[in-house]
Amino acid sequence: MGGSAADRPVVIGVDIGTTSTKAVAYDTDGRQLGSHAVGYPLDAPRPGHAEQDFELIHAAVLETVRVVVAGLARPVAGLSFSSAMHSLIGLDVHGEPLTPVLTWADSRASGQAERLRAGANALALHRRTGTPVHPMAPLPKLVWYAEQKIRLFEQVAHWVGSKDLVLRRLCGELVTDHSLASGTGLFDIHRLAWDPEALGIAGITEAQLPRLVPTTGVLPGLTPAAARATGLPAGTPVVVGAGDGPLANLGLGAVRPGVLACSIGTSGALRVMVEQPAVDPLGGVFCYALTERRWVVGGAINNGGIVLGWTGDALAPDLGEQPEEELLALAARAPVGSGGLIMLPYLLSERAPHWSALPRGAYVGLTHGHRREHLIRAALEGVCQQLALVLRSVQAAGNEVREVRASGGFARSPLWRQMLADALGLPVRFPAGHEGSSFGAALLGMQALGLIPSVDVAADLVRIDQTVTPDPAAAATYAALLPLHEELYEALLPTFGALRRLSPNLPPEPPPSEPPQ
Ligand code: ADP
Repeated sequence: MGGSAADRPVVIGVDIGTTSTKAVAYDTDGRQLGSHAVGYPLDAPRPGHAEQDFELIHAAVLETVRVVVAGLARPVAGLSFSSAMHSLIGLDVHGEPLTPVLTWADSRASGQAERLRAGANALALHRRTGTPVHPMAPLPKLVWYAEQKIRLFEQVAHWVGSKDLVLRRLCGELVTDHSLASGTGLFDIHRLAWDPEALGIAGITEAQLPRLVPTTGVLPGLTPAAARATGLPAGTPVVVGAGDGPLANLGLGAVRPGVLACSIGTSGALRVMVEQPAVDPLGGVFCYALTERRWVVGGAINNGGIVLGWTGDALAPDLGEQPEEELLALAARAPVGSGGLIMLPYLLSERAPHWSALPRGAYVGLTHGHRREHLIRAALEGVCQQLALVLRSVQAAGNEVREVRASGGFARSPLWRQMLADALGLPVRFPAGHEGSSFGAALLGMQALGLIPSVDVAADLVRIDQTVTPDPAAAATYAALLPLHEELYEALLPTFGALRRLSPNLPPEPPPSEPPQ
């Protein structure tokens, strides 16, 4: 690439997240040159709702880009996008929203998803579309609209995701990328085309969906109006970009096959990059596109760091407002395996690897001798064991995993770092200051614009701070307990279903203290 650092081209990665949009400018050496984030609410007017006002997302995109551009002393080679997956908006014939943005966290379509899952074709649909049949995805959401909002459903001209509409406002074209399409449940990941059977189930036609383009597609450029709103020249190239999960792997440098990206923030996820799309035989994992030659296989869990927060609220309210360090110190007093206590951490139900909206949390194995340190530790172990189950599904999809790169709030705790390595039975590497999906978007944009040879450079741009290797004795204990964790899920499933059926006749459950993330 030659020249001095000041000559390196600059690309802005824009990450449209569930709670905020963040724009970050990077040069081709991965140096960050400026960043700005703008938040917006995730509205839950009623239980099960998790929706957003698209206009706030659009305004946040314009503002974040404008602020970053204003702070840059250099020209911008292009914009490239990352977006939260699974969002759904219905547009009228003029391309204006008729519905709020339904996010992945919206669970109104639970009944429709459970019904589809019970059908004979559910597994085949999951394996063909890469998307589990789950209320997070647009397919069951469309069935919900068709059944519950019949007039509105008939008025909708196009069904799109948030990023699709942002790009239309910026460039005037209605397109969606293969990556976000692979999270809709409507897209055949093997043929790179909309899936006629899924469209039939949803009751929509191909003409109601955006035109499909590769993630490295470059749109003709910013319209004059979008240029004025962002401070960039009209015609600035816009790279279509991809979903935030696949791009997070890039941001961590987990781009080569065999390197697993693991995050435990509020929720959690495991994803490994593969060269050919594939879902395991039992449908435990998703498979989403990054580029035509790169796919991510993995699973997300609802119950990550939020479980630590719950132990503070429920078991140790005496510890005050920011109890994390003290909770972890308590957990460290309990032995590996929590003295035979197992916790199923399904406080916010669960996604991978079972993808049912029914499960609830459970402690099993309690004895008179257990104290709160055992209960806290068992909860953290439950989160790590759930990720170990997801890892098994990733492996069952035919993927060898050699190394894990981890990120998220949990990494502040040495105890939790070690616990993850022990539960996964693999060395876990912690990148120094990873930049997440906006970095991934910028790298993808650089490849699309011909500024770097391949997104694989991410592996070399991300520096590793620490590698935690599994302790053999602890790893053996967790490996012995993992089948029990799995069997307990199966054994309790009828009970979870019975609780769901009985709930209208039982005293009301307390509302969750935080919305799902
Ligand atoms: P998000 O996914 O929302 O961006 P973060 O990556 O910041 O969240 O992670 C938030 C989680 O980090 C919290 O739910 C909490 O469980 C965990 N956490 C917070 N402080 C600590 C700490 N000192 N040690 C370990 N984990 C922590």
